Amino acid sequence: MYIDSHCHLDFPQLRERLPQILARMDDNAVAEALCVSVNLDAWPELMALVESEPRLWASVGVHPDYEDVAEPTVQDLVERVRRHDRIVAIGETGLDYYRLEGDLEWQRERFRVHIRAARETGLPLIIHTRSASEDTLRIMAEEGAAEVGGVMHCFTESQAVADAAIAMNFMISLSGIVTFKNAKDLHALAANLPLDSLLIETDSPYLAPVPFRGKTNEPGFVRHVAEHIATLRGCTPEDIGKATSANFRRLFARAVRA
Ligand SMILES: [Zn+2]
Ligand SMILES: [Zn+2]
Repeated sequence: MYIDSHCHLDFPQLRERLPQILARMDDNAVAEALCVSVNLDAWPELMALVESEPRLWASVGVHPDYEDVAEPTVQDLVERVRRHDRIVAIGETGLDYYRLEGDLEWQRERFRVHIRAARETGLPLIIHTRSASEDTLRIMAEEGAAEVGGVMHCFTESQAVADAAIAMNFMISLSGIVTFKNAKDLHALAANLPLDSLLIETDSPYLAPVPFRGKTNEPGFVRHVAEHIATLRGCTPEDIGKATSANFRRLFARAVRA
């Protein structure tokens, strides 16, 4: 059984097709999926989707690429967590110096707010970092992110960044990028990561793995991510599924039903 640790099923490409998406998860032994929040304006709809389907979990947070949206406060994030027991993480948050330019102090401040909310609720963080690993790790350290841990999602950074994140109680989540032929550094990283720090994700609707590259991605395709990692590590896809699902439940401890 596989778990997709990061998807966006509320995005327009996917939300109209939920029954087919759930059926395709079944066909591929994908038991559950974590629907990650990017924007509080859209968040009530995300929660309605997750609360309609027991195989789905949610997070709460505002993505670093969303510039002209209401800024979350620590208190707002904490209250949302307290109102909904299907929220298992804070995020996605982090830094993105690739997509946006100029003075991004607001992005760093927003990131700090999320880390404070995570510490107050005890929930782990979902961190997005692009062309900003140095500042990301620095702010994680300054704000004490290690206390709650979390995941570095859709990871494409170096082994040194992975090591630093793991040392702060973070897991590394690999997406369909690991199936791309030219992602040589990521292949080496996938082969070397400690198995108890590994998660798998689709980041649907983006980044569909081979053999669906360029198409709309969906959680059922996470099996291909696991299969590719298994080939790189010389183990079976079942080994990867078992380990990453156990890691998911250990990290997102709220995502375990009584
Ligand atoms: Zn992201
Ligand atoms: Zn995402």
